[in-house]
Amino acid sequence: MSSTPDAKPSTSAYWMPFTANRQFKKAPRLLTQADGMYFRDEQGRQVLDGIAGLWCVNAGHNRPRIVQAIQQQAAELDFAPPFQMSHPKAFELAERLVQLTPAGLNKVFFTNSGSESVDTALKMALAYHRARGEGHRTRLIGRERGYHGVNFGGISVGGMVANRKMFGTMLSGVDHLRHTHDPARNAFSVGQPQHGAELADDLERLVALHDASTIAAVIVEPVAGSTGVLLPPQGYLQRLREICDRHGILLIFDEVITGFGRTGQPFAAQTFGVTPDLMTVAKGMSNGCVPMGAVFAHQRIHDTFMTGPEHLIEFFHGYTYSGHPLACAAALGTLDTYAEDGLLTRASTLQSAFAEAVHSLRDEPHVIDIRNIGLVAGIELAPRAQEPGKRAFDVFLDCWEQGVLVRTTGDTVALSPPLIIEPEHIDRLVNTLRQALRRVA
Ligand code: PMP
Repeated sequence: MSSTPDAKPSTSAYWMPFTANRQFKKAPRLLTQADGMYFRDEQGRQVLDGIAGLWCVNAGHNRPRIVQAIQQQAAELDFAPPFQMSHPKAFELAERLVQLTPAGLNKVFFTNSGSESVDTALKMALAYHRARGEGHRTRLIGRERGYHGVNFGGISVGGMVANRKMFGTMLSGVDHLRHTHDPARNAFSVGQPQHGAELADDLERLVALHDASTIAAVIVEPVAGSTGVLLPPQGYLQRLREICDRHGILLIFDEVITGFGRTGQPFAAQTFGVTPDLMTVAKGMSNGCVPMGAVFAHQRIHDTFMTGPEHLIEFFHGYTYSGHPLACAAALGTLDTYAEDGLLTRASTLQSAFAEAVHSLRDEPHVIDIRNIGLVAGIELAPRAQEPGKRAFDVFLDCWEQGVLVRTTGDTVALSPPLIIEPEHIDRLVNTLRQALRRVA
């Protein structure tokens, strides 16, 4: 008979991701319920969700259509193997999704997360060139201060130092564009910064260095979120598109945080008027309820795989849970909810009120820049000497004490509320942040 394991403190076994585990265990922040714009914590306090969970709960929490869709699906078909078979909802979801994407991006490959979407897109780019007889195009170009998840492809093309420095080995043959953050010229821009389109020409430098014939793809986030909410300067993405076209390089947009309404259109590609060849999404696709991601591929890319000799499998890639029935059901419920509430364009209606509110923090202590578009904003603080990120983290803790959830990334406080937000929530969010900035100062 097995004996009862020794009693252990309930916080001892869980090694938490992305968390200062030692600090957390002294002052745990445990969420137990959520509804609409609010979480509830273990003490029963209501916490206003200023970040849509983690840029994902775009329709707000506990939406009945999504809950019912998941419940019903679990009882009906819990799993279908993704290997040489599927289930109807995966097809239905793909059809529904491509009604929303920019023209041409009408093939959908399902994954379970943003990191998986990124690595899938990178592999698709390499395989596409190989399928066309250009297998010498193996080089991948990312950008400094890019975040593309935590798998090896993503951290290799990513430019977030903390994500890379512990791990040593990265993919070989990767290079990086310069980032576009230029506070000297663009601080406190409202919406897209004016200066910096020419930074896209940095791709020409890499083409000259490596030769275009070695380059498979360039991947960028239209708005870099995890490294501080960095917006593309006006004209930058257009110029990147032109250079890619000139040299036969695929352009990949990582829309894991910008997808599904964050910037005022379904995708940032539409907000900025630039269509990539491949687009990665996750998060808002299933409203964060069940893990799910996808890569949207241009028809031309997909068709390249279909025109060669017929093999048993054209693109040898996928996951056990690709197009999982529960995730598909959740995503269909999510798309219904977005449509019924007009959420995929709601950020464009609210963005001027949101911009006005966040820019009212301009004169608060230590604020050195504010960046925004749609319903996302970054408030950058001057770092404390010897303690990068600590001031923003203290602001996060203070807001938490006041019952408001914000996120920090480095010295930037990021806001990305659910798209159902109302003006009174915006006031509370920004005023709580204002008080926190003053107290922490
Ligand atoms: N790409 C971007 C742009 C992201 O912001 C994120 C997550 N914040 C990812 C990829 C990774 O997504 P996930 O955590 O679902 O793997």
